[in-house]
Amino acid sequence: MKIRTRFAPSPTGFMHVGNLRTALYEYLTARHDGGTFVLRIEDTDQERFVEGATQVIYDTLKLAGLSHDEGPDVGGDYGPYVQSERLGLYKPYAEQLVKNGKAYRCFCTKERLEKLRSEAPEGTVTGYDRHCRNLSEEEIAKNLADGIPYVIRQKMPEDGVTTYRDLVYGDISFPNADLDDQILLKTDGFPTYNFANVIDDHTMGITHVVRGSEYLSSTPKYNLLYEAFGWEIPTYIHLPLIMGKSTDENGKEIVSKLSKRHGSTGFMDLVAEGYLPEAIINYIALLGWAPDSTKEIFTLKELEEEFDINRISKSPSVFDYDKLTWVNSEHIKAMSFDDFLAHAKPFYDKAGIREDSYALLDELLKPRITRFNEIEEKLAFVREYGDFDLSLFEHKKSKSTLDTSKAMLEPALAIIETADWNREALGAAMTKLAEDNGVKNSVVMWPVRVAAAGVAVTPGGCSEVLLLLGRDESVRRIKAALKRL
Ligand code: GLU
Repeated sequence: MKIRTRFAPSPTGFMHVGNLRTALYEYLTARHDGGTFVLRIEDTDQERFVEGATQVIYDTLKLAGLSHDEGPDVGGDYGPYVQSERLGLYKPYAEQLVKNGKAYRCFCTKERLEKLRSEAPEGTVTGYDRHCRNLSEEEIAKNLADGIPYVIRQKMPEDGVTTYRDLVYGDISFPNADLDDQILLKTDGFPTYNFANVIDDHTMGITHVVRGSEYLSSTPKYNLLYEAFGWEIPTYIHLPLIMGKSTDENGKEIVSKLSKRHGSTGFMDLVAEGYLPEAIINYIALLGWAPDSTKEIFTLKELEEEFDINRISKSPSVFDYDKLTWVNSEHIKAMSFDDFLAHAKPFYDKAGIREDSYALLDELLKPRITRFNEIEEKLAFVREYGDFDLSLFEHKKSKSTLDTSKAMLEPALAIIETADWNREALGAAMTKLAEDNGVKNSVVMWPVRVAAAGVAVTPGGCSEVLLLLGRDESVRRIKAALKRL
């Protein structure tokens, strides 16, 4: 049997990392086995309709690299793939269940149901009282002839338990007595969410259902529907919640469902913060799944090969932003020169970096940044230079003072004006200057770098800073600093 999985998001305009993990596991389950990954948009809940929300789903999947084989935008043999375009499809299924006694028409008015609810003792589960479950044939015929609107409800078994096996949570049992005779088809002939979900999964040939653990308790109802139709139940893979860590006002650590207060929870927000889509995907893959090794850095391709649904854990994992940052930096380190440049280029352009500095920056930045947007601050000195605080020249560890700075900058300037313009030549000339004056290298290099950059922290040392600035700008800045000294 070929695996068919589906990602069935409701368009909310926002892709929480938990939803993205569901999509990823659906994708990996299919890809690992040469199966098919389907995208279905579950938009029947029109009250929650958000303009442009479906586009967010397409954009997210595309950026994350999770290409679907079938879906509203790519087509396929099981369409339509948008629930609101399938509305006419469900009624015959509901009627089939009425015919074989697994569902019934309920003519109860809104007012009656309202009354039931308000009269129920506080704290009890207010299910439907099954008033219409045993209407006589004559009553039903009369109601229909009178044109009384009705819904179709699922006829739940009155006793026994419904048990199913979840691949992650194991055997799950629910007493049938707890199951409400839920509505399948509304008075307008359109399905409820739960009914549409089952009909869609079956008619789309879905073999594996991956979704959040909040659906564990609805699944018995779904399974009773499958049984009522005589259909095969799919394999279920329910995923535990993703948690976040925070501290309360007493500094005590609290773990709760991942939300905004822990940090960004949306895929696009994380991308905007400088996390690479492939790093986010890599990190999210590890939230509930672990390979049979200590390997932690994966490309999507590698995940496709190594992912194993039998290794998904049911213990909730904590979203660790530091770990994500580390994973991101590992992905950066593994980048080719061209790839790194493509990501860094906007920041280089902003700082006014020349093309002949690209190789140097690849070497200086690639191992040191955790996100590309850090480049902006790291290279700000190339564009901005002002009257920095002269005390920057005083640096104990480098044995640099205002006096030594002034003394060393003068001969250093002469070197900078004439030396061969490359790293080795500049380094050697500065070292020689220190030697000739009987001082530590840092006594020369510290003030040169500070005078040129105007800041204490730069990527690379003295020679690299000079190269990034170019000879003319370096000379101009050192002269200006000397004047101020
Ligand atoms: N539309 C549901 C959601 O976004 C999907 C439920 C399912 O996968 O069965 O939560």
